[in-house]
Amino acid sequence: MAQGVPNSRLLVDEVMKKALREAERSYKETNEFGVDALNALNQLFENVLMKAFQVLDNAKFMEFETRSGLRSVRSIFTSDDQYLLLDGVNHCKCEYFIFNVLQQQESLTCKHVLGAHLASICGKFERKLLTDGQMTDMLNSATPALFIT
Ligand SMILES: [Zn+2]
Repeated sequence: MAQGVPNSRLLVDEVMKKALREAERSYKETNEFGVDALNALNQLFENVLMKAFQVLDNAKFMEFETRSGLRSVRSIFTSDDQYLLLDGVNHCKCEYFIFNVLQQQESLTCKHVLGAHLASICGKFERKLLTDGQMTDMLNSATPALFIT
């Protein structure tokens, strides 16, 4: 990978976070995503945004925590698979992410990561407490790609 790529990814993360914070603010005020927030998200994410809204409508969102609270893991259950995401980490195991985000760098993220952000704003995550052992088992069964950041 070229020098400077990590920096540009950090910048991208900042831009994404800013747009999502704006979306969250508008959602909290009006209980829906306002036109301005949607336009800002649409400019950043383009066609991924529509797909993320489909994920938001159709998937089940779970957030797993341990009593120690050191790390929470988010999981999206769609009709075809389960996607584990780490809070605050822009990474997903799906083909779209690997190809369009990491390799081609055409998109900022995939519908799962963006869908999880939207779900978080809308309060759609169901929380579940795990023992440390259960958390370890779940992380061990996840794809190693999850931890390349
Ligand atoms: Zn994905």
